[in-house]
Amino acid sequence: MTRPIAAALNVVMLGPPGAGKGTQAERFARTHGLPKISTGDILREAVTTGTDLGRAAKATMDRGELIGDEVMIGIVGERLARPDTERGFVLDGFPRTVTQATALDGLIDGRGPLVVVDIVVPEEVLLRRLAARRICGSCGVNAPIEWTTTCGVCNGELVTRTDDGVGIVRERLKVYHLQTAPIVNFYSGRPTFRKIDGNQPPDQVTTLMDKAICQASAVSNGARL
Ligand code: ADP
Repeated sequence: MTRPIAAALNVVMLGPPGAGKGTQAERFARTHGLPKISTGDILREAVTTGTDLGRAAKATMDRGELIGDEVMIGIVGERLARPDTERGFVLDGFPRTVTQATALDGLIDGRGPLVVVDIVVPEEVLLRRLAARRICGSCGVNAPIEWTTTCGVCNGELVTRTDDGVGIVRERLKVYHLQTAPIVNFYSGRPTFRKIDGNQPPDQVTTLMDKAICQASAVSNGARL
């Protein structure tokens, strides 16, 4: 049963690269008026604008490896301290290690339940999706299939992400299985953990996810879990 959300709603999206986390996080955040916090977007923006963080992170990202926990926890800690997260947030791309997941519990201590959604998609589907994925070279938005060459937001040129090449994608999936999949175990015993079948049309995933998150948040009834 879907109910309106009363208390703060803190959401974490899990799933391998290409699972659709970013798209679904964006939709859920928009529908519920919550900030979407994507660590991948924060890092790519830092690379584009050439900040110290961006210069330090670029090579690691291009190899498909993870940025250090301390740096990432610092970035997310700062972001979660902003007032727009008071009613909750949707995290996409964080946590990615058990150390980050443990730190997140500390960062949101006393701020309401944490709903964790794991989007599950078979590996061959992920590889197909990542090979076809395009983003805008100017504003960085993910391009839906109907945009062929230019961005529907800013008219920029559509490009492949520098870490979406075939070799790098395999490395990112390997890193996911080694470092990120263990956080599914970290969360799976909690009553606010939900698995979603991500191998279906995006609108269906959106509907399922909305139901699952609203139901999990109602079950938790404001208690910290
Ligand atoms: P994906 O499509 O793999 O989900 P993202 O856009 O979330 O990609 O992240 C792109 C890259 O940014 C990752 O491969 C990694 O190098 C870096 N990154 C993003 N979030 C984190 C994090 N929480 N911890 C470490 N590295 C991260």
